[in-house]
Formats: sequence, C-alpha cells, structure tokens
Amino acid sequence: MSSPAKTPPSGTVTFAQHAPVAAFPVVGGELAPGGIPVRRLAERVGRTPFYAYDRRAIDARVVALRAALPRALHLHYAIKANPMPAVVQHLAAITDGLDVASAQEMAVALDTGVAADRVSFAGPGKSASEIRRAVAAGITVTVESPLQLEQAVEAGAAIGVRPRVAVRVNPAFELKSSGMKMGGGPKPFGIDEARVPEVLDRVRESGVHLSGLHIFAGSQNLRAESIVDAQVKTYELGLSLLREWGGPVDWLNLGGGFGVPYFPGETELDLAPIAENLGKLCARADTDLGAPLVIELGRYLVAHAGVYVCRVVDRKESCGQVFLVTDGGLHHHLSASGNFGQVLRKNYPVAVANRLDEPADEVQSVVGPLCTPLDILAERMKLAHAEPGDLIAVFQSGAYGLTASPTAFLSHPAPAEVLV
Ligand SMILES: *Cc1c(COP(=O)(O)O)cnc(C)c1O
Repeated sequence: MSSPAKTPPSGTVTFAQHAPVAAFPVVGGELAPGGIPVRRLAERVGRTPFYAYDRRAIDARVVALRAALPRALHLHYAIKANPMPAVVQHLAAITDGLDVASAQEMAVALDTGVAADRVSFAGPGKSASEIRRAVAAGITVTVESPLQLEQAVEAGAAIGVRPRVAVRVNPAFELKSSGMKMGGGPKPFGIDEARVPEVLDRVRESGVHLSGLHIFAGSQNLRAESIVDAQVKTYELGLSLLREWGGPVDWLNLGGGFGVPYFPGETELDLAPIAENLGKLCARADTDLGAPLVIELGRYLVAHAGVYVCRVVDRKESCGQVFLVTDGGLHHHLSASGNFGQVLRKNYPVAVANRLDEPADEVQSVVGPLCTPLDILAERMKLAHAEPGDLIAVFQSGAYGLTASPTAFLSHPAPAEVLV
C-alpha cells in the first residue's frame, strides 16, 4: 500500500499547524510506538481501535523533568490522567508518590507495591467507606471538607489506627490561563483558605497525623509565568497556614497544572522559569518548613506518550468534502472529539499512521461510527490521502483519553490498551 520512499530522519512527526510529535519512533514511514510499526502492532493487539502508550516516552519525560527541576522536589503522578495498571506500575517506580481519586485508583496504586505513605487520596465526594478503606490502607486522606475529616477520625477510631490526613485548601486566587480551573472563588474542591485554620485546630484536637497541605489551582496551563505566579502564591499561602498551625508536616503539595500542546499554534511548556522558581521555593521550604515541596502531575507525564489508533473503514464524499469513517471515535476519545472541556472544537494532532512518508496535503475529515455529528476526530485537516484499511493516529492521547470517555455510548466494543 504505502511506498516507503523517504523516512523522516529523527522519528519526529511534523504537522502544518501543530507542535511536532517526537515521542515515537518512525520506521519506514510508519509510526512505531515502542519501536513496533503500527500495522504490526495492530496485528499484535488483535484489533483496532487501541491506545498505545510508549514506556520510553514516559521515561524520557520523567528524566527531562528531573533534570530540569530541583532535586529536593518530590514528583507525584496523579493517576486519574491514565489509570491503566501497567502505566501506573511503570510510573510508581520512577516517581516519588501517587495521587488517587477513587477507591479503585487506590487499589491500582497499592497493587504496584508503592509504600502507603507515598499515596494520597483527593476528591470532593469521597464516601465514608472509601475514607475508611484509605485509613485502613495507611494512605493519606486529603480532606476536602470538615465532614471528610470527621469521617477519617471515626475510621481511625473504629479500625484502631492513627489516620494520616492532608488538608486541601481552596485558595482565594486562581491559576491564570488554566484550561480547567480548580481553585479560586466558590468551588466544590478543598476548604476555603479562610476556614482552614479551624479545620487544622480540629486536626490537632483529634490527634490524627497531618501529612501536609494540598493546594491545586488548575490544569492544562501552557504559560510558564502563570504557573510560576500560582506556585509562589501557593507557597506563601501554605507557609502562612502552616506557621499558624505550628506543628510539623511531611510535605507541602503545590499541585501541578503543567499543560501540553494539543491544538494548532500551541507550543511545549517552557520549563526553565518554572524550574528556577521551584529551586528558590524548595530552598525556602527547607528553612521555613523543614519539609519538601511536592508537585503532582498527571497529563504532563503521560499525554505525549500515548497515541490512539483506529482504522479507516470507509471513505466517502459529501458535498465536496472527504470523510474518513473509522472504527474509533468519541466513545473512546472524548477529548479529541472536542467534547471534554473545550469551548470551540479544535483538532488534536492527527496523521495517517502508516503513511507518514507521504505528503499530508489532502483535506479530509476523520469521523467515528456513532450516529451523532459530535463524533469527529479531525475536522477538515490536511492528511496523507487515506483509504479503507489505513490506520489513523491521534497524538497527545496518553492522558484523559480512554479514562475520560463514554465507552458505553452506542454500545460499540471498548478499545484495547497496550503499554509498549
Ligand atoms: C486532576 C488532578 C491532578 C492532575 O492534573 P493534570 O492536569 O492531569 O496534571 C492533580 N491533582 C489533583 C488533585 C487533581 O484533581
């Protein structure tokens, strides 16, 4: 089918409008996650569509982050970005801790063998039973309300263990230019900063262990200056609350919010100013608190390392436009369809995975099999000419892909997942 005329030299996939993707090898004009040419990988998986996550790309990201960021900083993985057990297992070995947001994520985290005191459990709707399981496991319950604190205290009394808690603070400021705001003003997350001192009084009185404070202001931010600004404010807020509290803590968690480029015109986050600022804050934390700072990242650790692969099942024209109909769509990848937190639909980076050596010069739309006009993976994008049987790759799909998708919608089979 494809003519492997010239192979892109470095294995970088380039696009007319999107940031280049360098996470995967390219072999003979074919995308090769984990070094396996994608058609061969599809045979190995046994079906399409599937998500492939490349462990070398995950490693490279963690290595680059560690090299840039201060040594004293603890790096946690927020599992909700990609809870595939093999991915979590892989990240447990190369990060300093895991952040979970449900009892099932907690189970996946503990299955990796990570020490319980390196796991924390956030979430505004934790049930009494989830909190009890977390206390029994010995992980840190990040309390997001006075009720959650009482439930942790009760669970500790019932089980006969001293609960470990962290208090999640809803800061009065918000993370500027964040794709998804999770702090500042009225929010279901955390406890308003003004009310935190009384909650800390109750922590002291009840005798539970305070692991630290957790302040997470937002997600998907590509502007280094706003992340720096939020981290400084977060640190100052945490410091003043902890000074008032007076006791020791194990850490202060500054949240994350590091974004990745998805859409035309977006570029990679500039880590340098963030690293420089965190260096200063870590030094201050050492003297001010005698405790390390933590950042917790989900998307930034895995988004680039994942690709969603589906197969063209039909090619048709309607009123002069070409539609590549595939076996994959929004039921597997809600984010790429534009229906997960996007206001205006924009295209993810998409390519014909087995024709990377052919010019991407034909305007085509990639759609899924669902009977809804929302089921779009690429809208009027320049791609290599594709035919039924070809494989479509949706890049930047390692985070909030399958886990954020309504797989039951229209009752098609769920996609496979593979870590290669
Ligand atoms: C979702 C979430 C994260 C991860 O956010 P990313 O944008 O994926 O890095 C981290 N911490 C908490 C508390 C979260 O809810």
